[in-house]
Amino acid sequence: MAKNKTDLPKVAYFSMEYGLQSDFKIYAGGLGILAGDYLKGAKSYDFPIVGIGIKWKQGYTDQMIGPDGRPYDTFHNYNYDEFLEDTGVTVEVEIRRTTVRCKVWKCTAFDNAPLYLLDTDLPNNPDSWTTGQLYGWFGEERIAQEIVLGIGGVKALKKLGIKVDVYHFNEGHALFAGFELLRKEMKKEESFKKAVKKVRKKIVFTTHTPVIQGNESHPIDRIMYMGANLSMNAAQLEELGGSPFNMTVGALRLSRNSNAVAQLHGKTANKMWKSVKDKSKIEAITNGVHLPTWVDQGILDAVEDRTNLWERHQYNKRNLIDFVKERNGVQLDENKLLIGFSRRAVPYKRSDLIFTRPEVIDPLLADGRVQIIFSGRAHPLDDNGKEIVYRLVQKSRQFPNSVVFLENYDMTIGAQLTRGSDVWLNNPRRPKEASGTSGMKASMNGVLNFSTLDGWWPEACNHGVNGWQFGDAFESDSFDEQYEHDLNALYKVLLEEVIPTYYNDREKWISMMQASIIDTKDQFSVKRMLEEYYELLY
Ligand SMILES: *Cc1c(COP(=O)(O)O)cnc(C)c1O
Repeated sequence: MAKNKTDLPKVAYFSMEYGLQSDFKIYAGGLGILAGDYLKGAKSYDFPIVGIGIKWKQGYTDQMIGPDGRPYDTFHNYNYDEFLEDTGVTVEVEIRRTTVRCKVWKCTAFDNAPLYLLDTDLPNNPDSWTTGQLYGWFGEERIAQEIVLGIGGVKALKKLGIKVDVYHFNEGHALFAGFELLRKEMKKEESFKKAVKKVRKKIVFTTHTPVIQGNESHPIDRIMYMGANLSMNAAQLEELGGSPFNMTVGALRLSRNSNAVAQLHGKTANKMWKSVKDKSKIEAITNGVHLPTWVDQGILDAVEDRTNLWERHQYNKRNLIDFVKERNGVQLDENKLLIGFSRRAVPYKRSDLIFTRPEVIDPLLADGRVQIIFSGRAHPLDDNGKEIVYRLVQKSRQFPNSVVFLENYDMTIGAQLTRGSDVWLNNPRRPKEASGTSGMKASMNGVLNFSTLDGWWPEACNHGVNGWQFGDAFESDSFDEQYEHDLNALYKVLLEEVIPTYYNDREKWISMMQASIIDTKDQFSVKRMLEEYYELLY
């Protein structure tokens, strides 16, 4: 990038969640971790970016495991005073024809890349619950939250006097910001078509999930009833987002540029939205991670000097083992293979794939040759996801010394696992994983990826050299067929390559760790991602 950074376009980034710090609970999962790393990258590398988000009073769920082995959601009111200062600015939005005030907070940690958070929890404010629980609901309440983020966010920027060249929507949640920009254009008596054309020029959009159901949609009536349509009538809404109104489709039509979050996801997203006319071009920009947050400096220092690499890894592994002992009371063995796995509990991620055939896996767990630590939350309203968590906890009760489930997955657990495991397992049903940044964190820490060729992994995987793939990118429309195929492949590589290398060829293992770190630390850093955003998107 040749340009001087002061000449770069000024970007306002809108995201429902930001994963900045473990105990600042305004995040749920990967989408928020990306937004947090993005903003930290803007700060570290001095890009002209401001973030807009929401101050979630109760965050996402604190999901604990009950005595019966089932996950239970608990919610607490959090106080984030240490992270925030009052800007003195308040803006108003209309929700269901009622005026709701939104206070604007500024996150103190980000001076050059400031983050502003909106908050409706004010005395005598109607609908003050709106910024209560992140992803708490799916229907009217979700729209209310998105009105605050999008419409409130644009108003806040204006009132704060922040000049914006590009509005970047991280996911369709922020789309109503575009509606607010449209409202302003239409007030100038522009026709709808002309207004759309003008507004599109200022908007870019990142699409995330390749799972159709994960792309939020609402009946047009509901959007109108909530008042999110602003200046638009039903026909105009339908023209943008179809009927029912799909937030992703709307964002694809109201942006001049968009991106998917890995190269494979770029292909999948283009296929998935092929039938959407007049949409922006979908580029592929692979996610990256913020190294100072996720990667142990000690391991980066040791990578040149192989003799210390193993020692440093064992140090990180002991830290993880101590962490587990403290949390769950289980003593793992630092001289035995330790597999880490943490994922949101949803069926396509197939968290318990490795347990499918007890005759294969149980003997390995029984003598501790394989130890596994799991973590991951299910959405509070997702009973299937909770069943997955329950099955993992059951397995940990069957093998209490070699299978661990860490409750209430958060950034602390994420950082511990991606530093201290030996192997990072990931087995989504290809091509459903958009990116998978936890694998990047792991590989940069010398934790070897062992994964299906989904998300980012096809871009980095050099099988047997810097990690392993299994399944050879096989895809089938039949869930069962793909499951069988991937399961056989997982066991084959585990038994014939991963386990023998770990126990019998330490030299090769260390070489693989070294290759893993060197091959990924620059390529999958948020710095590279930001540079590509500026080249391809902004
Ligand atoms: C890194 C991270 C994620 C994202 O990881 P995926 O690979 O996308 O699952 C989610 N949650 C936490 C707490 C993380 O640290």
